[in-house]
Amino acid sequence: SASLSLAMEEKRGTFNREKANKLVKDLKKVFNTGKTKTYEWRMSQLTSMLKMIEENETDIYRALYKDLAKPESEAFISEVNMTTGSCKLALKELDQWMKPQKAKTTVTTYPSSAQIVSEPLGVVLVISTWNYPFLLSLDPVIGALAAGNAVVLKPSEIAPASASLLSKLFQEYLDSSAVKVVEGAVDETTALLEQKWDKIFYTGNGRVGRIIMAAAAKHLTPVILELGGKCPVVVDSNTNLQVSAKRIVAGKWTCNNGQTCVAPDYVITTKAFAPKLIDALKNELLEFFGENPMKSKDMSRLVNLYHFKRLTSLMDEVSDKIVVGGQSDEEELKISPTILLDVPEISQIMQEEIFGPLLPILTVDNVKDSFDMINSRSKPLAAYIFTSDEELKKDFVRDISAGGMLINDTVLHLTVDSLPFGGVGESGMGSYHGKFSFDSFSHKKGVLHRAFTGDSPTRFPPYTPAKLRLL
Ligand code: NAD
Repeated sequence: SASLSLAMEEKRGTFNREKANKLVKDLKKVFNTGKTKTYEWRMSQLTSMLKMIEENETDIYRALYKDLAKPESEAFISEVNMTTGSCKLALKELDQWMKPQKAKTTVTTYPSSAQIVSEPLGVVLVISTWNYPFLLSLDPVIGALAAGNAVVLKPSEIAPASASLLSKLFQEYLDSSAVKVVEGAVDETTALLEQKWDKIFYTGNGRVGRIIMAAAAKHLTPVILELGGKCPVVVDSNTNLQVSAKRIVAGKWTCNNGQTCVAPDYVITTKAFAPKLIDALKNELLEFFGENPMKSKDMSRLVNLYHFKRLTSLMDEVSDKIVVGGQSDEEELKISPTILLDVPEISQIMQEEIFGPLLPILTVDNVKDSFDMINSRSKPLAAYIFTSDEELKKDFVRDISAGGMLINDTVLHLTVDSLPFGGVGESGMGSYHGKFSFDSFSHKKGVLHRAFTGDSPTRFPPYTPAKLRLL
């Protein structure tokens, strides 16, 4: 098929600006026929997407194992189950989402009625990343299809097994005249970014986020940027220590071994409480991964040698601060769960997003001092606090700006699809999940219906003193 040969050309590195231009032109033509706008087309694509995931679960696990050694149960929870959940929700609620919403009118327009109509934007580009290669590709695509757009997905070349499976499955299951996958790296993405899109949805780091936004600006294309950052975890001494420790360990080391955008990046606690917290974290690590975590089958590996070296160098700079772990194995691309205490704030590990199994703990005299530490940095994608103190919870929500927040747990807020998921400031712009995905790929068109009656004479010239008195 045409799209099959397209995928092969990209692999040979011949996908260039001309091809990208033709791709977008062809999709625009298909979009202009109106077929993607219909409720039936959207439902058929969402139904096929659900079938695609369910029928190919084993292949999905295999690809995730190849790319990341991702344990199957993690892959089920965070990639398969989340994406089938998104399909099911969209299938169930699409007719509601598509309904025009009634809006109030004013005296000036009486008699009239007003509605907000959600219309598809057109041809959209989704560029995704490697850490959850299915979830972060499929979830935005589900939103874009539900909203009635033609879509191009550009998966990450850093998870190649997942990218090629996505390309194959899209051709088998989805309408290949309106939904395409372009595999490739920087050159292919650059060729795509030169085109005029109706929206670009990008997940990845802020450096590339800036490239995306600059390219989009040339065409006045709106963007959603799902970026990262350093997600802080504040631990108050007034907390359920064992549960807090378990949930921090789960968020950091079971979710793709720290390679998660909302993984705890660093912990802040009080000087007095730190030793107790470290003991509790150690116990939970032992419980989860045994005496030799490097051999545990329940932990993903690091994605590649580049990231392995980046992480070992972050660790080496502050190796005197290691209180738990510190082992690494270059062959296996593994670093053991590592906790570091009181690393200097100027050290590199506190300057960049860690995105791996290292967890620095910073200490303060008073738990509220943590707020200034967080606020002195870029706004994170997620911020966490563990406490039983109701006042402290309120203060945290009021005083800390973050993409999202979770009190007394980590990561799980992103599974609640009635909450918008997205960043603020350096952690990104725009949001998605559930109906927010539909809204992000729709234009909200205000439509006013007027009757042929009800004109006030004051509206029209000549503006006489008599008319003025009526105003
Ligand atoms: P990556 O290297 O896979 O890059 C992401 C995408 O950008 C890929 O598709 C890649 O091909 C493309 N790309 C890379 N360089 C480019 C260039 N010069 N021009 C155009 N496109 C280019 O992934 P990454 O950036 O290492 O991903 C990790 C980052 O993503 C972390 O910062 C993490 O926090 C963030 N992230 C955010 C979310 C979220 O939902 N907010 C989710 C996952 C990851």
